[in-house]
Amino acid sequence: MLSWDQSPSLARMRQERAWVEINLAALAHNVGQVKRLVLPGTQLMAVVKADAYGHGAVTVAQSVLHAGADWLGVATIPEGIELREAGIKAPILILGATNTSEQVRAIARWNLQPTLCTPKQALVFSETMAQLPGQTPLPVHLKLDTGMSRLGTSWENATEFAQLVQRLPNLAIASLYSHLATAESLDRTVVNQQQQRFEQAIAQIREAGITPPKLHLANSAGTLTDAALHYDLVRVGLALYGLYPAEHLRSVLDLQPVLQVKARVTQVKTIQAGTGVSYGHRFVADREMQIAVVAIGYADGIPRNLSNQMTALIQGQRVPQIGAITMDQLMLDVSQVPGLQEGEVVTLLGQDGDQVISADDWANALGTISWEVLCSFKHRLPRIAINQSLRDRFLESTR
Ligand SMILES: *Cc1c(COP(=O)(O)O)cnc(C)c1O
Repeated sequence: MLSWDQSPSLARMRQERAWVEINLAALAHNVGQVKRLVLPGTQLMAVVKADAYGHGAVTVAQSVLHAGADWLGVATIPEGIELREAGIKAPILILGATNTSEQVRAIARWNLQPTLCTPKQALVFSETMAQLPGQTPLPVHLKLDTGMSRLGTSWENATEFAQLVQRLPNLAIASLYSHLATAESLDRTVVNQQQQRFEQAIAQIREAGITPPKLHLANSAGTLTDAALHYDLVRVGLALYGLYPAEHLRSVLDLQPVLQVKARVTQVKTIQAGTGVSYGHRFVADREMQIAVVAIGYADGIPRNLSNQMTALIQGQRVPQIGAITMDQLMLDVSQVPGLQEGEVVTLLGQDGDQVISADDWANALGTISWEVLCSFKHRLPRIAINQSLRDRFLESTR
Protein backbone atom coordinates (compact mmCIF):
# COMPACT_ATOMS: atom_id res chain seq x y z
CA MET A 1 0.00 0.00 0.00
CA LEU A 2 1.30 3.44 -0.91
CA SER A 3 1.68 5.67 2.08
CA TRP A 4 0.32 9.18 1.86
CA ASP A 5 3.70 10.77 1.26
CA GLN A 6 4.73 8.42 -1.53
CA SER A 7 1.41 8.72 -3.29
CA PRO A 8 1.82 10.24 -6.75
CA SER A 9 -1.53 11.97 -6.26
CA LEU A 10 -0.12 14.04 -3.39
CA ALA A 11 2.53 15.49 -5.66
CA ARG A 12 -0.21 16.35 -8.12
CA MET A 13 -2.41 17.90 -5.46
CA ARG A 14 0.41 20.24 -4.47
CA GLN A 15 0.31 21.69 -7.98
CA GLU A 16 -3.38 22.34 -8.13
CA ARG A 17 -5.32 25.49 -7.39
CA ALA A 18 -8.46 23.48 -6.67
CA TRP A 19 -9.48 19.86 -6.98
CA VAL A 20 -12.01 17.15 -6.16
CA GLU A 21 -10.57 14.50 -3.87
CA ILE A 22 -12.01 10.99 -4.25
CA ASN A 23 -11.56 8.65 -1.28
CA LEU A 24 -11.47 5.15 -2.75
CA ALA A 25 -11.39 3.52 0.69
CA ALA A 26 -14.69 5.24 1.54
CA LEU A 27 -16.11 4.05 -1.78
CA ALA A 28 -15.12 0.45 -1.04
CA HIS A 29 -16.54 0.78 2.47
CA ASN A 30 -19.89 1.91 1.05
CA VAL A 31 -19.96 -1.00 -1.42
CA GLY A 32 -19.39 -3.34 1.54
CA GLN A 33 -22.19 -1.69 3.52
CA VAL A 34 -24.69 -2.11 0.66
CA LYS A 35 -23.60 -5.70 0.04
CA ARG A 36 -24.14 -6.55 3.70
CA LEU A 37 -27.65 -5.16 3.49
CA VAL A 38 -28.75 -7.34 0.55
CA LEU A 39 -29.04 -11.13 0.45
CA PRO A 40 -25.97 -12.98 -0.90
CA GLY A 41 -27.88 -13.91 -4.07
CA THR A 42 -28.77 -10.30 -4.84
CA GLN A 43 -26.37 -8.64 -7.24
CA LEU A 44 -25.17 -5.06 -6.98
CA MET A 45 -25.24 -2.75 -9.98
CA ALA A 46 -23.10 0.31 -9.26
CA VAL A 47 -24.68 3.23 -11.08
CA VAL A 48 -21.80 5.24 -12.55
CA LYS A 49 -23.73 7.45 -14.97
CA ALA A 50 -22.85 11.15 -15.28
CA ASP A 51 -19.14 10.43 -14.75
CA ALA A 52 -20.02 8.48 -11.58
CA TYR A 53 -22.04 11.40 -10.18
CA GLY A 54 -19.04 13.65 -10.81
CA HIS A 55 -16.53 11.37 -9.07
CA GLY A 56 -14.82 10.08 -12.25
CA ALA A 57 -16.38 7.03 -13.93
CA VAL A 58 -13.34 4.91 -14.74
CA THR A 59 -11.67 5.16 -11.34
CA VAL A 60 -14.96 4.61 -9.53
CA ALA A 61 -15.92 1.66 -11.74
CA GLN A 62 -12.58 -0.08 -11.22
CA SER A 63 -12.80 0.45 -7.47
CA VAL A 64 -16.40 -0.70 -6.99
CA LEU A 65 -15.82 -3.82 -9.09
CA HIS A 66 -12.83 -4.68 -6.96
CA ALA A 67 -14.96 -4.09 -3.85
CA GLY A 68 -17.61 -6.53 -5.09
CA ALA A 69 -20.06 -4.79 -7.41
CA ASP A 70 -21.33 -7.11 -10.17
CA TRP A 71 -22.74 -4.73 -12.76
CA LEU A 72 -22.26 -1.15 -13.90
CA GLY A 73 -25.10 1.15 -14.90
CA VAL A 74 -24.60 4.13 -17.22
CA ALA A 75 -27.01 6.56 -18.88
CA THR A 76 -25.52 6.76 -22.37
CA ILE A 77 -23.55 4.78 -24.94
CA PRO A 78 -20.44 7.04 -24.74
CA GLU A 79 -20.41 6.51 -20.97
CA GLY A 80 -20.35 2.75 -21.57
CA ILE A 81 -17.65 3.00 -24.24
CA GLU A 82 -15.44 5.03 -21.89
CA LEU A 83 -15.52 2.14 -19.40
CA ARG A 84 -14.83 -0.49 -22.09
CA GLU A 85 -11.93 1.56 -23.47
CA ALA A 86 -10.47 1.54 -19.96
CA GLY A 87 -10.48 -2.26 -20.11
CA ILE A 88 -13.48 -2.90 -17.88
CA LYS A 89 -15.09 -6.26 -18.66
CA ALA A 90 -18.07 -6.27 -16.25
CA PRO A 91 -21.61 -6.21 -17.70
CA ILE A 92 -22.77 -2.67 -18.41
CA LEU A 93 -26.45 -1.72 -18.63
CA ILE A 94 -27.41 1.48 -20.43
CA LEU A 95 -30.24 2.90 -18.34
CA GLY A 96 -31.24 5.54 -20.89
CA ALA A 97 -33.10 5.02 -24.15
CA THR A 98 -31.24 4.18 -27.36
CA ASN A 99 -33.20 4.18 -30.60
CA THR A 100 -31.21 4.28 -33.83
CA SER A 101 -29.50 1.55 -35.88
CA GLU A 102 -26.22 3.35 -35.40
CA GLN A 103 -26.69 3.13 -31.65
CA VAL A 104 -27.53 -0.57 -31.86
CA ARG A 105 -24.29 -1.21 -33.77
CA ALA A 106 -22.28 0.69 -31.15
CA ILE A 107 -23.95 -1.28 -28.36
CA ALA A 108 -23.13 -4.62 -30.04
CA ARG A 109 -19.61 -3.52 -30.98
CA TRP A 110 -18.79 -2.50 -27.38
CA ASN A 111 -20.61 -5.35 -25.66
CA LEU A 112 -23.03 -3.03 -23.86
CA GLN A 113 -26.56 -4.00 -22.83
CA PRO A 114 -29.51 -1.78 -23.78
CA THR A 115 -32.77 -0.94 -22.07
CA LEU A 116 -35.78 -1.58 -24.31
CA CYS A 117 -38.69 0.73 -23.57
CA THR A 118 -41.07 0.32 -26.53
CA PRO A 119 -42.03 -2.29 -29.17
CA LYS A 120 -40.81 0.06 -31.93
CA GLN A 121 -37.39 0.24 -30.35
CA ALA A 122 -37.31 -3.57 -30.03
CA LEU A 123 -37.98 -3.88 -33.79
CA VAL A 124 -35.09 -1.53 -34.65
CA PHE A 125 -32.78 -3.55 -32.41
CA SER A 126 -33.79 -6.90 -33.90
CA GLU A 127 -33.56 -5.67 -37.50
CA THR A 128 -30.18 -4.05 -36.98
CA MET A 129 -28.78 -7.10 -35.22
CA ALA A 130 -29.89 -9.23 -38.20
CA GLN A 131 -27.54 -7.18 -40.41
CA LEU A 132 -24.53 -7.84 -38.19
CA PRO A 133 -22.93 -11.14 -39.23
CA GLY A 134 -21.89 -13.68 -36.61
CA GLN A 135 -23.51 -11.91 -33.69
CA THR A 136 -24.93 -13.88 -30.80
CA PRO A 137 -28.35 -12.67 -29.57
CA LEU A 138 -28.07 -9.27 -27.88
CA PRO A 139 -29.02 -9.30 -24.18
CA VAL A 140 -31.78 -6.72 -23.69
CA HIS A 141 -33.45 -5.38 -20.56
CA LEU A 142 -37.17 -4.65 -20.68
CA LYS A 143 -38.25 -1.50 -18.88
CA LEU A 144 -41.74 -1.16 -17.45
CA ASP A 145 -43.35 2.08 -16.36
CA THR A 146 -45.12 1.25 -13.10
CA GLY A 147 -45.68 4.83 -11.98
CA MET A 148 -42.57 6.93 -12.59
CA SER A 149 -44.00 8.15 -15.93
CA ARG A 150 -40.54 8.26 -17.42
CA LEU A 151 -39.08 5.50 -19.63
CA GLY A 152 -40.76 2.17 -20.24
CA THR A 153 -43.84 0.39 -21.54
CA SER A 154 -46.87 0.69 -19.26
CA TRP A 155 -47.09 -2.25 -16.83
CA GLU A 156 -50.56 -2.91 -18.30
CA ASN A 157 -48.99 -3.83 -21.67
CA ALA A 158 -46.03 -5.73 -20.20
CA THR A 159 -47.05 -9.17 -21.43
CA GLU A 160 -47.54 -8.14 -25.09
CA PHE A 161 -44.21 -6.29 -24.95
CA ALA A 162 -42.36 -9.28 -23.49
CA GLN A 163 -44.00 -11.65 -26.00
CA LEU A 164 -42.97 -9.42 -28.90
CA VAL A 165 -39.35 -9.25 -27.77
CA GLN A 166 -39.32 -12.99 -27.05
CA ARG A 167 -40.43 -13.71 -30.64
CA LEU A 168 -37.97 -11.30 -32.27
CA PRO A 169 -34.79 -12.92 -33.58
CA ASN A 170 -31.34 -11.79 -32.38
CA LEU A 171 -32.54 -10.51 -29.00
CA ALA A 172 -32.41 -12.30 -25.64
CA ILE A 173 -34.36 -10.99 -22.66
CA ALA A 174 -31.80 -10.51 -19.86
CA SER A 175 -33.99 -8.76 -17.32
CA LEU A 176 -37.29 -7.08 -16.57
CA TYR A 177 -37.14 -3.89 -14.56
CA SER A 178 -38.86 -0.77 -13.38
CA HIS A 179 -37.92 2.39 -11.47
CA LEU A 180 -39.37 3.83 -8.25
CA ALA A 181 -40.55 7.44 -8.03
CA THR A 182 -40.88 7.96 -4.26
CA ALA A 183 -38.78 5.27 -2.58
CA GLU A 184 -37.25 7.68 0.00
CA SER A 185 -40.69 8.78 1.22
CA LEU A 186 -42.05 7.73 4.62
CA ASP A 187 -45.44 7.41 2.92
CA ARG A 188 -45.26 4.01 1.19
CA THR A 189 -48.49 4.32 -0.86
CA VAL A 190 -46.87 4.95 -4.25
CA VAL A 191 -44.00 2.49 -3.68
CA ASN A 192 -46.48 -0.23 -2.76
CA GLN A 193 -48.59 0.53 -5.82
CA GLN A 194 -45.54 0.40 -8.08
CA GLN A 195 -44.42 -2.89 -6.58
CA GLN A 196 -47.91 -4.40 -6.99
CA ARG A 197 -47.96 -3.36 -10.63
CA PHE A 198 -44.48 -4.83 -11.13
CA GLU A 199 -45.57 -8.09 -9.46
CA GLN A 200 -48.72 -8.25 -11.58
CA ALA A 201 -46.69 -7.81 -14.76
CA ILE A 202 -44.20 -10.49 -13.68
CA ALA A 203 -47.01 -12.96 -12.96
CA GLN A 204 -48.65 -12.39 -16.34
CA ILE A 205 -45.37 -12.62 -18.24
CA ARG A 206 -44.60 -15.90 -16.49
CA GLU A 207 -48.08 -17.16 -17.31
CA ALA A 208 -47.30 -16.48 -20.96
CA GLY A 209 -44.34 -18.84 -20.60
CA ILE A 210 -41.58 -16.23 -20.41
CA THR A 211 -39.18 -16.20 -17.46
CA PRO A 212 -36.97 -13.11 -17.35
CA PRO A 213 -33.62 -14.24 -15.88
CA LYS A 214 -33.48 -11.18 -13.64
CA LEU A 215 -35.92 -8.78 -12.00
CA HIS A 216 -34.92 -5.42 -10.52
CA LEU A 217 -36.67 -2.40 -9.08
CA ALA A 218 -34.66 -0.66 -6.36
CA ASN A 219 -32.49 2.46 -6.50
CA SER A 220 -30.54 3.53 -3.37
CA ALA A 221 -33.70 4.55 -1.55
CA GLY A 222 -35.51 1.31 -2.41
CA THR A 223 -32.46 -0.68 -1.36
CA LEU A 224 -32.24 1.07 2.01
CA THR A 225 -35.95 1.03 2.82
CA ASP A 226 -37.27 -2.46 2.08
CA ALA A 227 -35.66 -5.86 1.38
CA ALA A 228 -38.83 -6.83 -0.52
CA LEU A 229 -37.73 -4.40 -3.24
CA HIS A 230 -34.32 -6.02 -3.77
CA TYR A 231 -35.30 -8.85 -6.19
CA ASP A 232 -32.25 -10.23 -8.09
CA LEU A 233 -30.28 -7.01 -8.33
CA VAL A 234 -30.23 -3.51 -6.82
CA ARG A 235 -29.21 -0.43 -8.82
CA VAL A 236 -27.35 1.80 -6.40
CA GLY A 237 -25.90 5.22 -7.12
CA LEU A 238 -26.13 7.81 -4.35
CA ALA A 239 -25.47 5.49 -1.40
CA LEU A 240 -22.19 4.27 -2.96
CA TYR A 241 -21.03 7.88 -3.00
CA GLY A 242 -21.72 8.02 0.74
CA LEU A 243 -24.95 10.02 0.88
CA TYR A 244 -28.36 9.08 2.22
CA PRO A 245 -31.44 9.45 0.00
CA ALA A 246 -33.28 10.82 3.08
CA GLU A 247 -32.41 11.77 6.65
CA HIS A 248 -34.55 9.02 8.16
CA LEU A 249 -32.39 6.37 6.43
CA ARG A 250 -29.20 7.30 8.30
CA SER A 251 -29.67 4.50 10.83
CA VAL A 252 -29.82 1.78 8.13
CA LEU A 253 -26.19 1.91 6.99
CA ASP A 254 -22.91 3.56 7.88
CA LEU A 255 -21.99 5.49 4.74
CA GLN A 256 -18.90 7.62 4.25
CA PRO A 257 -18.88 10.53 1.77
CA VAL A 258 -16.41 9.81 -1.04
CA LEU A 259 -15.95 13.27 -2.53
CA GLN A 260 -14.34 16.37 -1.05
CA VAL A 261 -13.78 19.71 -2.75
CA LYS A 262 -10.61 21.58 -1.87
CA ALA A 263 -8.82 24.71 -3.04
CA ARG A 264 -5.87 26.84 -2.10
CA VAL A 265 -5.60 30.26 -0.49
CA THR A 266 -3.87 32.52 -3.01
CA GLN A 267 -3.78 35.80 -1.07
CA VAL A 268 -4.41 36.96 2.50
CA LYS A 269 -5.14 40.61 3.29
CA THR A 270 -6.52 42.91 5.95
CA ILE A 271 -9.48 45.16 5.12
CA GLN A 272 -10.87 48.03 7.20
CA ALA A 273 -14.41 48.45 8.57
CA GLY A 274 -16.68 49.76 5.81
CA THR A 275 -14.78 48.04 2.99
CA GLY A 276 -16.94 46.25 0.38
CA VAL A 277 -16.01 42.77 -0.84
CA SER A 278 -16.42 41.34 -4.38
CA TYR A 279 -18.82 42.26 -7.21
CA GLY A 280 -21.69 44.45 -6.14
CA HIS A 281 -20.18 44.89 -2.68
CA ARG A 282 -22.80 42.47 -1.40
CA PHE A 283 -20.68 42.16 1.74
CA VAL A 284 -19.34 45.18 3.67
CA ALA A 285 -16.93 44.64 6.56
CA ASP A 286 -18.33 45.87 9.89
CA ARG A 287 -14.87 45.75 11.52
CA GLU A 288 -11.25 45.33 10.57
CA MET A 289 -11.04 41.92 9.03
CA GLN A 290 -8.52 39.46 7.67
CA ILE A 291 -9.75 37.90 4.45
CA ALA A 292 -8.45 35.09 2.24
CA VAL A 293 -8.85 34.84 -1.51
CA VAL A 294 -9.45 31.18 -2.54
CA ALA A 295 -8.82 29.85 -6.04
CA ILE A 296 -12.20 28.30 -6.79
CA GLY A 297 -15.44 29.79 -8.11
CA TYR A 298 -18.69 29.14 -9.88
CA ALA A 299 -16.93 28.01 -13.06
CA ASP A 300 -15.62 25.12 -10.95
CA GLY A 301 -19.12 24.32 -9.70
CA ILE A 302 -19.35 26.31 -6.47
CA PRO A 303 -22.94 27.58 -6.76
CA ARG A 304 -23.05 31.36 -6.93
CA ASN A 305 -26.34 31.20 -5.04
CA LEU A 306 -24.32 30.22 -1.97
CA SER A 307 -22.66 33.67 -1.91
CA ASN A 308 -22.68 34.97 1.70
CA GLN A 309 -24.53 31.72 2.64
CA MET A 310 -21.78 29.13 2.91
CA THR A 311 -18.86 28.33 5.17
CA ALA A 312 -15.53 26.66 4.47
CA LEU A 313 -13.06 24.74 6.62
CA ILE A 314 -9.50 25.85 7.18
CA GLN A 315 -7.08 24.41 9.76
CA GLY A 316 -10.02 22.52 11.27
CA GLN A 317 -12.03 25.71 11.76
CA ARG A 318 -15.26 26.79 10.11
CA VAL A 319 -15.06 30.23 8.52
CA PRO A 320 -17.74 32.27 6.66
CA GLN A 321 -17.59 32.92 2.93
CA ILE A 322 -18.13 36.63 2.20
CA GLY A 323 -19.23 38.60 -0.86
CA ALA A 324 -20.33 37.34 -4.27
CA ILE A 325 -18.70 34.10 -5.40
CA THR A 326 -16.93 34.95 -8.67
CA MET A 327 -16.12 32.77 -11.67
CA ASP A 328 -12.73 31.57 -10.49
CA GLN A 329 -12.34 32.85 -6.94
CA LEU A 330 -14.15 33.48 -3.68
CA MET A 331 -13.34 35.21 -0.40
CA LEU A 332 -13.42 33.98 3.19
CA ASP A 333 -13.41 35.88 6.49
CA VAL A 334 -10.37 34.31 8.16
CA SER A 335 -10.06 36.78 11.06
CA GLN A 336 -10.26 33.84 13.47
CA VAL A 337 -7.29 32.04 11.82
CA PRO A 338 -4.28 34.18 12.65
CA GLY A 339 -1.07 33.70 10.71
CA LEU A 340 -2.78 32.10 7.73
CA GLN A 341 -0.44 31.70 4.77
CA GLU A 342 -0.92 31.59 1.01
CA GLY A 343 -1.00 28.01 -0.25
CA GLU A 344 -3.07 26.78 2.69
CA VAL A 345 -5.71 24.20 1.71
CA VAL A 346 -9.38 25.12 2.16
CA THR A 347 -12.11 22.46 2.31
CA LEU A 348 -15.27 23.70 0.61
CA LEU A 349 -17.08 20.36 0.87
CA GLY A 350 -15.84 17.58 3.12
CA GLN A 351 -14.21 17.14 6.49
CA ASP A 352 -11.37 18.92 8.29
CA GLY A 353 -10.73 17.88 11.89
CA ASP A 354 -14.14 17.41 13.48
CA GLN A 355 -15.86 19.88 11.17
CA VAL A 356 -17.93 18.59 8.25
CA ILE A 357 -19.64 20.29 5.32
CA SER A 358 -21.81 17.81 3.43
CA ALA A 359 -23.48 17.81 0.03
CA ASP A 360 -26.75 17.72 2.00
CA ASP A 361 -25.83 21.03 3.69
CA TRP A 362 -25.41 22.63 0.26
CA ALA A 363 -28.53 20.95 -1.11
CA ASN A 364 -30.60 22.26 1.81
CA ALA A 365 -29.22 25.78 1.42
CA LEU A 366 -29.91 25.70 -2.33
CA GLY A 367 -33.33 24.02 -2.21
CA THR A 368 -32.11 21.06 -4.27
CA ILE A 369 -30.96 17.46 -3.71
CA SER A 370 -27.52 16.03 -2.99
CA TRP A 371 -27.55 14.18 -6.34
CA GLU A 372 -27.46 17.55 -8.15
CA VAL A 373 -24.74 18.93 -5.84
CA LEU A 374 -22.47 15.95 -6.57
CA CYS A 375 -22.99 16.31 -10.32
CA SER A 376 -22.24 20.04 -10.34
CA PHE A 377 -18.42 20.02 -10.16
CA LYS A 378 -16.88 20.94 -13.47
CA HIS A 379 -14.09 19.24 -15.35
CA ARG A 380 -11.75 22.11 -14.62
CA LEU A 381 -11.36 20.47 -11.20
CA PRO A 382 -9.13 17.43 -11.53
CA ARG A 383 -10.40 14.32 -9.73
CA ILE A 384 -7.61 13.11 -7.50
CA ALA A 385 -7.93 9.67 -5.96
CA ILE A 386 -6.67 9.03 -2.44
CA ASN A 387 -6.34 5.64 -0.74
CA GLN A 388 -5.65 4.14 -4.15
CA SER A 389 -4.49 0.73 -3.02
CA LEU A 390 -7.78 -1.02 -3.86
CA ARG A 391 -7.80 0.26 -7.39
CA ASP A 392 -4.14 -0.63 -7.87
CA ARG A 393 -4.91 -4.18 -6.83
CA PHE A 394 -7.85 -4.30 -9.24
CA LEU A 395 -5.59 -3.15 -12.07
CA GLU A 396 -3.01 -5.79 -11.16
CA SER A 397 -5.64 -8.52 -11.05
CA THR A 398 -6.84 -7.68 -14.56
CA ARG A 399 -3.39 -7.32 -16.09
C1 LIG B 1 -29.87 6.87 -11.61
C2 LIG B 1 -30.63 5.61 -11.53
C3 LIG B 1 -30.46 4.76 -10.42
C4 LIG B 1 -29.63 5.12 -9.21
O1 LIG B 1 -30.36 6.02 -8.38
P1 LIG B 1 -29.81 6.43 -6.93
O2 LIG B 1 -30.97 7.12 -6.30
O3 LIG B 1 -28.67 7.37 -7.14
O4 LIG B 1 -29.40 5.19 -6.23
C5 LIG B 1 -31.12 3.53 -10.46
N1 LIG B 1 -31.89 3.18 -11.51
C6 LIG B 1 -32.09 3.99 -12.57
C7 LIG B 1 -32.97 3.55 -13.69
C8 LIG B 1 -31.48 5.24 -12.61
O5 LIG B 1 -31.69 6.04 -13.66
